[in-house]
Amino acid sequence: MRFDVISLFPDVVEKTASMGVIGRAISSDKIQLKTWNPRDFTEDVHKTVDDRPFGGGPGMVMKIEPLKKAVQSAVGVVKEPAKVIYLSPQGRKLDQQGVNYLSQFPRLVLLAGRYEGVDERLLEGYIDEEWSIGDFVLSGGELPALVLMDAVARTLPDILGHQCSAIEDSFVNGLLDHPHYTRPDVFDGVAVPDVLLTGNHKKIAVWREKQALGKTWQKRPDLLEKIKLSQHQKLLLDEYIKEQNNLKR
Ligand code: SAM
Repeated sequence: MRFDVISLFPDVVEKTASMGVIGRAISSDKIQLKTWNPRDFTEDVHKTVDDRPFGGGPGMVMKIEPLKKAVQSAVGVVKEPAKVIYLSPQGRKLDQQGVNYLSQFPRLVLLAGRYEGVDERLLEGYIDEEWSIGDFVLSGGELPALVLMDAVARTLPDILGHQCSAIEDSFVNGLLDHPHYTRPDVFDGVAVPDVLLTGNHKKIAVWREKQALGKTWQKRPDLLEKIKLSQHQKLLLDEYIKEQNNLKR
């Protein structure tokens, strides 16, 4: 999958994306990333990318001409069609379902805004979709672009070292992830659950499923309302709730 990110701070995008899982995926050419700086598409000596808003008011607005050229160059750099996305607090809120939807496209062009945002006419003429990472306002779209890229890339085959990690991740099957433990087996007097030391993979899988159900019930009960639990899962969740109630007594 290929990502083209349009940003006034391409270094932020490239440096952050060069680390960890995404960095390895880029180095091994499993995903491709290219950044585009709107300043490179200006024609004046000052490389102006922003201007005062018509009608007055505070802040500056990103000018349409350099952005239009940057979007067109990014889209046209390879033949494969691209979905053009503007990261914006006004967009559809990103969740795992949205991430799965976006991961179906072979190419995403991500436009990171700055200042008060971009000239509205760019959205009308050159942007396919707007996506937000939450109901709050950041100073720029670079972090949202990186968030979207990371979340999408994780869902692609062969990106994570162990593909099961993505399957068990929170939200992938509608539930939160089960708890994780590593050495030491006792810390501050608290022991790792016995079952995890048994080596019995079937029992461990059942324990993990029960914990995933239980943690979701405790922390995000709203998620349980959106999925249909199997009979087996209902029994596991009942057991979990009974165990919690016994602990309280
Ligand atoms: N005036 C805009 C508004 O209130 O809708 C906010 C502009 S914000 C200061 C500058 C840029 O940051 C935006 O153009 C957008 O690219 C990015 N941004 C800020 N918050 C975001 C969010 N929650 N999700 C995605 N992008 C965001």
